[in-house]
Amino acid sequence: MPHIHSHAPGPRRAPLLIVSVVVAMVAIFAGTLVALRVGIGAPRGTVPALAIITIKSPSTTPFWQAITKPADQAAILDVTPSTIPCDTPNAHSDPRQINVVINKKHCLSPRSFAPSDLVTIGGATLTSAAASAFGKMADAAAAAGVPLSVTSSYRSYQSQVSTYNTWVAQNGSADAADKVSARPGYSEHQTGLALDLAAGSCGLECFTTTAQSAWLITHAADYGFINRYPRGAEAITGYSPEPWHYRYVGVAVAQDMAARGIPTLEQYWNITGGDY
Ligand SMILES: [Zn+2]
Repeated sequence: MPHIHSHAPGPRRAPLLIVSVVVAMVAIFAGTLVALRVGIGAPRGTVPALAIITIKSPSTTPFWQAITKPADQAAILDVTPSTIPCDTPNAHSDPRQINVVINKKHCLSPRSFAPSDLVTIGGATLTSAAASAFGKMADAAAAAGVPLSVTSSYRSYQSQVSTYNTWVAQNGSADAADKVSARPGYSEHQTGLALDLAAGSCGLECFTTTAQSAWLITHAADYGFINRYPRGAEAITGYSPEPWHYRYVGVAVAQDMAARGIPTLEQYWNITGGDY
């Protein structure tokens, strides 16, 4: 009787084989379907990062065209390194608020932000509140015999892309460009709250010695402006001294900073700063 047993597997082997073949065919069919889907989906679903950048920045000066060295090209494509938590929301990250703090650790969010209420007063294009405050300050300065000239005020994200890449092309690397120009999305000028001032044709380093600069040091706070990058605060602000660069923060904050002798927004609001 053990033979009955030995025959038993016989008839069962055939269905098993059929099942195996069917499973294999289904697997092949499914594999083909997946392959087809991937093949069809790829052009739309997996657009390379570079292509996204191309779509977002089809501007006059593409990031990579002015660059010759491959190492620099990589650095430029990475103008907003993922290691920088610049989009982390905090009480001072809203570029529509006058309390916003933009520095090399905190970029604009969104990086392509543009103010909705820009107006031009006294040669400065700023948000309406900042422009009207500047208008009053400019009138007072002129009345005091120290008329102010504006050399730069609001700058768009796209104009900063061009500016920054010009510096990269000229200086040969992103590191060198970072010393003289803010990366796109990291410039306070993009908030519409900052401007560069001059005394006639005397701006930048020349401005320090002028009566205009001395007047501003005494009176700017009364109109809501502060000198944003003071001497001795390079490690805190991330910028060399810029006696010509003023930032609108509102009268209350500007006067409070002056009264308490707090030279930077980073210290006043306890916001991290320094280099990228
Ligand atoms: Zn400036």
